[in-house]
Amino acid sequence: MLDFAGNPCFSVAIVIHQNTRQKFACLDIKFPLNKTLPPMAEPKVNDLMERIVSLCKRRGFVFQSSEIYGGINGFWDYGPLGAELKRNVKDYWWRSMTQRRDDVAGLEATIIMHPQIWEASGHTSTFADPMVDCLLTKKRFRADQIDPQSGVVYHYSGAEGGGKKSEEPFSVILVPGKNPESARKVAKQFYQQRGIADAVLMGERTEKVENSTRYNSENGSLLTEPRLFNLMFKTYVGPVESAENVAYLRPETAQAIFAQFKNVMEVSRQKVPFGICQSGKAFRNEINPRNFTFRSREFEQMELEFFIRPDEAVEAICGGVAKPAGASHPGHPQPNWGWEMWHKYWVEERLAFYESIGLPRASLVEYWQKPEELAHYARATVDILYKFPFSKRNEAGELTGEELEGVAARSDFDLSQHQRFSGKAMTVFDEELKVAWGKLDEAKRNDLANRYYETRLKYLTKVGEPADKAEKQARENAQELGKGYYVPHVIEPSAGVDRLALALICNAYCEDQAPDEKGNMEGRVVMRFHPRIAPVKVAVFPLLKNKPELVKKALEVRDLLRPHMTVFYDEGGAIGRRYRRQDEAGTPFGVTIDFDTLGEQGAELKDTVTLRDRDTMKQTRIKISELLPRLLERIQ
Ligand code: ATP
Repeated sequence: MLDFAGNPCFSVAIVIHQNTRQKFACLDIKFPLNKTLPPMAEPKVNDLMERIVSLCKRRGFVFQSSEIYGGINGFWDYGPLGAELKRNVKDYWWRSMTQRRDDVAGLEATIIMHPQIWEASGHTSTFADPMVDCLLTKKRFRADQIDPQSGVVYHYSGAEGGGKKSEEPFSVILVPGKNPESARKVAKQFYQQRGIADAVLMGERTEKVENSTRYNSENGSLLTEPRLFNLMFKTYVGPVESAENVAYLRPETAQAIFAQFKNVMEVSRQKVPFGICQSGKAFRNEINPRNFTFRSREFEQMELEFFIRPDEAVEAICGGVAKPAGASHPGHPQPNWGWEMWHKYWVEERLAFYESIGLPRASLVEYWQKPEELAHYARATVDILYKFPFSKRNEAGELTGEELEGVAARSDFDLSQHQRFSGKAMTVFDEELKVAWGKLDEAKRNDLANRYYETRLKYLTKVGEPADKAEKQARENAQELGKGYYVPHVIEPSAGVDRLALALICNAYCEDQAPDEKGNMEGRVVMRFHPRIAPVKVAVFPLLKNKPELVKKALEVRDLLRPHMTVFYDEGGAIGRRYRRQDEAGTPFGVTIDFDTLGEQGAELKDTVTLRDRDTMKQTRIKISELLPRLLERIQ
């Protein structure tokens, strides 16, 4: 196993959940295999992720943070290729979510914000994970991520030895097939740690248990009772470390969007429905960072808050509320869309986004959270999962996937909370609603106002407002609706940059065979990134570096392409080796300047180059003047 100091459970995770069959079944070998060469060894079931991690380090996608000091658990740096990959992901997300839409505006807010933001959002009180510790090793786990175990539990009331006695109870689980002595050994270690040398165990009794999550699956030791642990990183603003100067590194980028909602709406002259998006750093003091960069303590998010009318307003204006009719994309947004249509729309838009950067639909899972899994304010949440090699498998042996993004219909909870805590109105005025309301008959008005009153009352009661205050407030809100005022509801697609980068790396990783200098087949690692997000778009090679005419022409081609894309110029080593280096970096195109380019084999070939496709390894001759449009078409 690779030694990634500070990330001890990574190796465990990949041993348990590894799959290579699926990945390597799709090998695309374009060249005939040299019969004398043994086929490339099928990677062992457990080492695909290990190979990917190794490539990430070797080629400079990801490094351990502070590596020269032994690393720091849960923090990762991106090397030259990783930095480009991440930048491409964020830029493409920004372009598709904001620049290519009329109805979304961007924001870039600070990481440290007024601490009351986190009171209003609920993070101070509820952004916590249950944590347990192993009583033997003190290793810490998230209680909800403990694998259930069945077996016989050995309970002890204490131990004595060397003139000392401990009456602290301890238990160990013994899974089927293991010798009871191993349970006793673990118990003795526990008491030895409490100063009892040569411990003689006391009061042994056994108990059968099924699917218990009270024991450490690594050594069988009892775990502590779960305790809640707030994941926010705390700091102090200013020189005095006092309670009133406490601030937090943001655990998500979304809250700044809510806090700046009014400002952005005003300056961008948007009207509901519209969205605000932001990408940037977020920090969570995760109990158990693991699976490489998947669960980190510092990471980046890409979040959109899309503000919509409450359904009662849509019904008043349009006479009805459209509901999703099937499983497919609901099409271009319409005025009669309620929250369900908008939610479905964003789920489909986001799935299409992932496909557009090369994640096949079959590698993604659309997981609809069950009612009991939903946050109390959420009406529906779809998690978009990617089938990572370390994902767990279901009973049918299929990878179940891990979350890349959550698309949540969050009602009007967030803005309402900031309205309550800041005392600033988060309502919008909707002229169309006011006009439409005036034309409704009384029965319809009462019906809509009553429904709106009920949902507002439910929210206000849930957040702890006293009954009389909640009723009064909800009644006022229902009256305001009739005048065209409401707090917008929100659909939130919230994605992680680092998880997506890791998914793209896992998805791109391929091993196949390619011919070496002499035409013999050899194994190659190729990163099949979609050209849109590939770190380097094109490599430019003069065939020989000691021919000044070739080098001069190659530099001209490099300078022609460089203003438009990332270009890597490489003149060192045999051309096959140079191709191989770019295959590993995932560079989709290679341009070679040879003697034909100089017109030495005929005037008709002058100023043509070979364009090599990374995936097919096919080379085509193309005029230099056609190179830029051809490449731009593929990378945009
Ligand atoms: P999880 O259940 O995996 O902890 P979450 O549901 O708490 O994730 P959200 O709060 O919905 O995550 O955050 C939105 C996105 O931010 C996630 O879908 C994920 O892509 C990313 N993200 C959240 N926590 C982390 C983390 N510790 N490391 C890397 N990315 C993260």
